Amino acid sequence: MKKSKWHGKPCPVCEEGVLHDDIKLMTQGYKGHEYKSRMRGEFCDKCAEAVMVHDAVEETAWLEFRNQVDQQVAGG
Ligand SMILES: [Zn+2]
Repeated sequence: MKKSKWHGKPCPVCEEGVLHDDIKLMTQGYKGHEYKSRMRGEFCDKCAEAVMVHDAVEETAWLEFRNQVDQQVAGG
């Protein structure tokens, strides 16, 4: 995977740690339905700071999931 421009940069928050590319699995809830998404971002190795990287593919998948839930709710 191509490294982002943040990879290896000093953490802007604690100024001690270094940012690393990583992907974390996150579970989001929407109207009682669970959705597991992969959040790509830069994670500091010292503090809990994370800089999220916008991912158009994930964004589209999340919007489609919400549309499906909305249709189920509307259709009963
Ligand atoms: Zn930090």
